[in-house]
Amino acid sequence: MAKEELECSFCGRKKPETNLLIAGLDAHICDRCIEQAHGIVIEESKQSDSSDLSAELKLRKPLQIKEFLDTYIIGQEATKKVMSVAVYNHYKRLLQPASNDDIDIQKSNIIMVGQTGTGKTLMAKTIARMLNVPLAIVDATVLTEAGYVGEDVESILTRLLQAADYNLDKAEKGIVFIDEIDKIARKSDNPSITRDVSGEGVQQALLKLLEGTMVNVPPKGGRKHPDQKFIEVNTENILFIAGGAFDGIERVISKRLNMQAVGYSASISDNVVDQNHLLQYIIPKDLKDFGLIPEIIGRLPVLTYMDPLDAKTLRAILTEPKNAIIKQYKKLFAMDDIEFTITDGALNFIVDKAIEYKLGARGLRSLCEEILTDAMFELPSSEEKKLNVNKLYAEEKLTKTTLKKLKAVS
Ligand code: ADP
Repeated sequence: MAKEELECSFCGRKKPETNLLIAGLDAHICDRCIEQAHGIVIEESKQSDSSDLSAELKLRKPLQIKEFLDTYIIGQEATKKVMSVAVYNHYKRLLQPASNDDIDIQKSNIIMVGQTGTGKTLMAKTIARMLNVPLAIVDATVLTEAGYVGEDVESILTRLLQAADYNLDKAEKGIVFIDEIDKIARKSDNPSITRDVSGEGVQQALLKLLEGTMVNVPPKGGRKHPDQKFIEVNTENILFIAGGAFDGIERVISKRLNMQAVGYSASISDNVVDQNHLLQYIIPKDLKDFGLIPEIIGRLPVLTYMDPLDAKTLRAILTEPKNAIIKQYKKLFAMDDIEFTITDGALNFIVDKAIEYKLGARGLRSLCEEILTDAMFELPSSEEKKLNVNKLYAEEKLTKTTLKKLKAVS
């Protein structure tokens, strides 16, 4: 065939009428047909995305879920185990075929109690990543009762819809992480005379979402607006994970444990209580005494706790998780062909400072950033292809002033 006679085998356009004509074995395709075909491929994959979602939910056994969590999260063994079972049961419930045996598997919504920075958000993120489902992270402190300044409880679902790219089917099987749930606890046992717009009222509003209901959600968020079209979201299969520091709950636990000890006339020595880790004894009643209403506690049936992070854990967080901070810096430097190494002495020094200045796990990143910024600024345009950070180097970069600054922003 003469060159000028070449044509697209799909639409028949002659070569001069196309911008590009790609040759195959016995055929040709033009740029326009490629684009059209590409569009069809995307459309098709979107459709199969939504219809086969349940098949796609990679249902793993609790042991495998825990192994996955282990690659991203250091320690927190008790919570990882409880979470693995809860998540497994939740998705089993979701995939159960309709049956007529009247046994209704209840939702395993979860509540995690533990200081800030101990990995509660990370836990929720890791589960969502493993299951490949959308995740919305919301802060309970911004929620208020409908009609008050702040966000309506429905805004939680707007976030989830956004996280799911407005794919309703995906959103309805997603995960919502509600942070700082303790901040909406009722402050005292006496219901207040003034209206309690951000406490019990919000708890009441949350109840409906947690138990599973149809909710009209403004897709773009914001206040309910008369001309905004709503999307109806069913929360039946959404997994809710709540987290909170519950500052001072140890006192509640300790009081209860002491009372029990007296009540059963058992001496404390018979019943050794680890006073430094009281959270491990937490029971739903403690949450009630803290100010959560019993109905909310009932809808978050899986209760678990996070251990405070000690030096050993902080040290491991720096280097061990799959996307550990140090691994990230290594990758960043490697992109400029720079080999980055850091000594144990420097790593221990970073951990010591994080503890001394009470910066927690979140502070590890800011400390590394302070130590490495000069190198990240200078090395890419220098001939130097190696960076070894030892304790001395780290000490030089982390002056008292920078540490104080980090403390102030943490
Ligand atoms: P929380 O939600 O409890 O306040 P986050 O999950 O936001 O805490 O954790 C803060 C940071 O610390 C995260 O960036 C996370 O990478 C890190 N981190 C905290 N705990 C752990 C842990 N056990 N394993 C690995 N990283 C952790």
